[in-house]
Amino acid sequence: MIRTGNAGVLVTLDGTKVLVDGLCGRVGAYPETPAYIVQNLLDEPPDVLLFTHAHQDHYSAIHISPYENTILRPVIGPEDVSYKQFSVGNLKITPIKTRHLGKADPGLSHTSYLIEGSKNVLVAGDSAPTCFKDFPKVDLAVVPYAYCTTPSAWALTKSICDRVVLVHMPAEEEDEYGLWSMVRETTHSDPKLTVAEIGKRLFF
Ligand SMILES: [Zn+2]
Repeated sequence: MIRTGNAGVLVTLDGTKVLVDGLCGRVGAYPETPAYIVQNLLDEPPDVLLFTHAHQDHYSAIHISPYENTILRPVIGPEDVSYKQFSVGNLKITPIKTRHLGKADPGLSHTSYLIEGSKNVLVAGDSAPTCFKDFPKVDLAVVPYAYCTTPSAWALTKSICDRVVLVHMPAEEEDEYGLWSMVRETTHSDPKLTVAEIGKRLFF
């Protein structure tokens, strides 16, 4: 797995490559997909591109265009799914209807994804942590800051997975809300937590 941008990950599992929110623009302090990763993905395209919602820090229409027009890979977002499980290569993907964190546009569609193969990976997108109360346990959950900034959210997050991969953190020098210190104070270097760096391979 590689973090490709703000909240984006490329999950390579059992010979199948799934990109989730993996091509995005910069929004405030949240980083875009770097040009070298945009190019790497064009050179070795994923089998499917999934998007959790249409915010720019998760979705870049310009970068997605070649996959729709020339490379021809399925591009799937919350408006395209029937919320039934589907297969891509050797993996099964289950879209989960979830609610965006905070006071986002109430008409905004948002989908999290469960990717199942020899490992099970939940990609939360910008969903509220409470969407996963009592969720069956997975090997790995990819989550934004809100899952790691309050004790109750962190307890819930740890209860649904063996490993937490934190994405969607601002550039540390532009962290106007103090999210980095909130994460540190909440998680206390818990060995379950990995803060993903863009471009660095994690676990598999
Ligand atoms: Zn969002």
